[in-house]
Amino acid sequence: MSTNNILVFAEQRDGRILAASYQLLALATQLASETGGQAEACVIGSGVGDLSTKLAAYGAKKVYTVDDAELAMYRAAPYATALAAAIDTADPKIVLVPTSFMGKDLAPRVAAKKRAALAIDATDVKLDGGDVVVEKPMYAGKFSGTFKLSANRLQVVTVRTNAYSANDPHEGEAAETQAVTVSLSDNDKRVKINEIVATGSGVKDVTEADIVVSGGRSLKSEDNFKILYNMAEVLGGAVGASRAACDAGYQPHTRQVGLTGKVVTPKLYIACGIDGAIQHLAGMRGSKVIVAINTKKAAPIFKVATYGCVCDLFALVPPLTEELRKANG
Ligand SMILES: Cc1cc2nc3c(=O)[nH]c(=O)nc-3n(C[C@H](O)[C@H](O)[C@H](O)COP(=O)(O)OP(=O)(O)OC[C@H]3O[C@@H](n4cnc5c(N)ncnc54)[C@H](O)[C@@H]3O)c2cc1C
Repeated sequence: MSTNNILVFAEQRDGRILAASYQLLALATQLASETGGQAEACVIGSGVGDLSTKLAAYGAKKVYTVDDAELAMYRAAPYATALAAAIDTADPKIVLVPTSFMGKDLAPRVAAKKRAALAIDATDVKLDGGDVVVEKPMYAGKFSGTFKLSANRLQVVTVRTNAYSANDPHEGEAAETQAVTVSLSDNDKRVKINEIVATGSGVKDVTEADIVVSGGRSLKSEDNFKILYNMAEVLGGAVGASRAACDAGYQPHTRQVGLTGKVVTPKLYIACGIDGAIQHLAGMRGSKVIVAINTKKAAPIFKVATYGCVCDLFALVPPLTEELRKANG
């Protein structure tokens, strides 16, 4: 018999907690109010004890830390063993994991270890009695499926980044902390990391940025995307792209915004030469301010835009970037 608590896997890299983990704490708090339990978090790494204060500010009532030099960098096997050990200690009803590269790798392994029910990439998570009901896009976004995970076993759900908003942090909140010790086998440690090669270093991920400058098929080449990278650099933002631009090879699919890409909710989203197909809107309509630059007055993107510029992006973006650079000093 488990507790009624909801445990969030708080993903961190180099001591920085992924924003998605805070969003999941908001969801966990909401679900815990229905189960009669509390939102809890588990953080895994080396020297991660200090992170419990941050997690408490975002709603974690208790934080389990698995701190071990072997866990300094992510590897699937030792992290799965560590999270399984935290689950054994916390005994939660539901485990929430961000749908990140790490989360998608980790959650199925942990679910298999714990013989849990598993759903990947949920965009909506509700409770029906004790069962968890998740909605998730399927077949490259052509359908949305609803799945019920039985309350008879542990339920593990990965949740899409930005599907939920984080609560405002309450600095000064404290959480109970509990260190979980884990004994890693030679098998757990069989993958050795020799070298980390950074690709695209200095380029923010679209889901993490407050400002996203996105481009569509109209950019016509990877080289032309440089004008968007210049603008994003001046604004301290990230570059996104429509699926058509990614399919054409102008940008990697890791930058794709939309139903089958990433969901973003930045403070400012600048759509350059993006038509505004419904599948693109699904990934960015939650942005606070939307600026659309498009030559076609009837483009659907203008229906969701806060500000619209009917003009050629190649004529507007470079001089606007220069003006922003000057304004920034
Ligand atoms: C199942 C499914 C899932 C999908 N998932 C996604 C998804 O996740 N994300 C996504 O983006 N799409 C997705 N799509 C594709 C989507 O339907 C559109 O085809 C795609 O978003 C179009 O991309 P676009 O706006 O860049 O290209 P286009 O439709 O070609 O639009 C180009 C726009 O640029 C404007 N333009 C042209 N030249 C200029 C210029 N010089 N200056 C300013 N404006 C200019 C044009 O007026 C036009 O509005 C999906 C489709 C399906 C069927």
